[in-house]
Amino acid sequence: MNKVELEKIKQKALEENIPIIMDDTLEVISKILKEQSPLKILEIGTAVGYSAICFSEYLQPNGYIDTIERDECKVEEAKENIKKAEVEEKIHIYQGDAVEILPTLNDIYDIVFIDAAKGKYPFFLKEALRCLNKTGIIIADNILYKGYVMSDYNKHKQRTAVRNLREYIAEVTQNPNLETKILEVGDGLAISKRKE
Ligand code: SAH
Ligand code: MG
Repeated sequence: MNKVELEKIKQKALEENIPIIMDDTLEVISKILKEQSPLKILEIGTAVGYSAICFSEYLQPNGYIDTIERDECKVEEAKENIKKAEVEEKIHIYQGDAVEILPTLNDIYDIVFIDAAKGKYPFFLKEALRCLNKTGIIIADNILYKGYVMSDYNKHKQRTAVRNLREYIAEVTQNPNLETKILEVGDGLAISKRKE
């Protein structure tokens, strides 16, 4: 898709306060995707399709992205954007709650990108591991959540999210089959590579 159109999608999302992937985060993920050249990507949290459209550039020629979004209006807008970007062959949206949809998926993915309800990250991780290729990578966005996750401030109204993000970090760093890096880029990014 041409850069101008993609920029329009991005600006509209930002104006509407849709939490699309940040530029520096996208840069880091793009580098990983370029190296991996994935066949299949699973994304949890489509929003208006911005990240999926950006990722689709790095797929193998016959590759595809499955992405899950529960908000009906966002799904509609994502479909329009994906069509405009001429990548409708490569991106398939599941509409519904990822908590219900994930257990029904039977595909194996090279990359799983987690970017939805923070309180569900430990569950998303469990499902991501189930669907992950033996050398696949799980990438989780917003893992440091504005710095709350690494601070000792526990009274925040988002404490359930914070507790679950901490649990996610503990699980990926302690899992002997994963090699995990936590980056301070954007809102925090966890990159966990499954060891062969
Ligand atoms: N990945 C997108 C941004 C996603 S924002 C991008 O960078 O362009 C997070 C999205 O996840 C929101 O649109 C929200 O509606 C969706 N979401 C949150 N919890 C979800 C759940 N349990 N199941 C499906 N979608 C969910
Ligand atoms: Mg995000």
